[in-house]
Amino acid sequence: MNILLTGGMGYIGSHTAVLLANTGHQVHIYDNLCNSSPSTLERIQKITSKDIGFTEGDVRDTEKLADVLRKEKIGAVIHLAGLKAVGESSQKPIEYYANNVQGSISLIQAMQSAGINTLVFSSSATVYGDPIYLPYDEEHPTKPTNPYGRNKLQIEDMLRDLSVSDKEWKISCLRYFNPVGAHESGHIGEDPNGIPNNLMPVIGQVVNGILPSLNIFGNDYDTPDGTGKRDYIHVMDLAEGHLAALVWLQSNPGCHNFNLGSGDSYSVLDLLYHFEQASGLKIPHQVVGRRPGDLPEYYAKADKAEKLLGWKAKKTLSDICSSSWLWIKSSKN
Ligand code: NAD
Ligand code: UDP
Repeated sequence: MNILLTGGMGYIGSHTAVLLANTGHQVHIYDNLCNSSPSTLERIQKITSKDIGFTEGDVRDTEKLADVLRKEKIGAVIHLAGLKAVGESSQKPIEYYANNVQGSISLIQAMQSAGINTLVFSSSATVYGDPIYLPYDEEHPTKPTNPYGRNKLQIEDMLRDLSVSDKEWKISCLRYFNPVGAHESGHIGEDPNGIPNNLMPVIGQVVNGILPSLNIFGNDYDTPDGTGKRDYIHVMDLAEGHLAALVWLQSNPGCHNFNLGSGDSYSVLDLLYHFEQASGLKIPHQVVGRRPGDLPEYYAKADKAEKLLGWKAKKTLSDICSSSWLWIKSSKN
């Protein structure tokens, strides 16, 4: 199939592009490079030895997007383009709504104009908000606590309304938990601009000497070692979830939500330990106060994806840390 990846030059999109190209699909990336580098294209081509199409453009440019959809004879879209920093979304909410919500409206209009109705959307576990129970299943109430999460929920709502109004649409909203890790080649990985917020990229910057040490945000949570626990999912497992959703959608019209997580949770100290084991390094760290808004723990119930999509996260925390180490090491040189 010919598949368009909006935001395909980014962290999750580049790994998904590799998987799709390696499973015989024709991939075209549409990205404005606001949070990625053009060199990623060469890296994807190097890993896959496949010709990957690329158009530099903003998803809010509906006409340009529709032209690409027609010209490349696209059969399905994976919509990853978006701004994703939770903290920044509270400082610049209108920028986030304009990019993420308006960008998604523009994409749908472009798809309508090009006659395409199969869409996989990158949503987030952030849509759930504070847990009423754990693990979160797809029926857990949605009450996001920040503008980024509200963007995601509004887009999900919009997609559901669309699928009710037009029964031809085949849509899947994938609620990612904590994507980490990198491709086994070490050629692509997470490479955020500026100072990162997420745990693994912070560790990467400590290793590379950009940051002096890791601040652990609190060790007084009600968890076994007192540090926060998360459901870390290897980015290549996540990529496989997109492919599984695309295949399943072919015979399942409507709008469907799926959690993509491992179903387990690990603490900051667990992750640090596994990273130190994988790298043989000692990561300087100290405990500081809790980060405002952080939850003690959350993780997915991922049974729905296993039952319907036949998808399950396979990689371990050790796999995650060794692939991250390979990427961090190669980006250091
Ligand atoms: P990323 O920033 O690495 O990739 C996003 C890509 O989208 C970038 O290449 C950026 O240049 C592009 N982009 C942004 N706005 C655009 C626009 N208006 N037009 C065209 N391109 C645009 O982020 P990622 O981690 O790969 O995340 C991909 C998607 O998954 C995002 O929608 C994000 O919200 C979602 N998500 C990510 C995480 C995570 O922790 N990484 C968790 C849950 C959901
Ligand atoms: N964390 C930390 N130091 C950091 C970044 C994150 O201790 O510099 C902790 C954070 O408090 C949480 C876990 O690591 O318990 C994962 O945080 P991340 O920001 O990666 O994911 P999120 O909290 O958004 O799920």
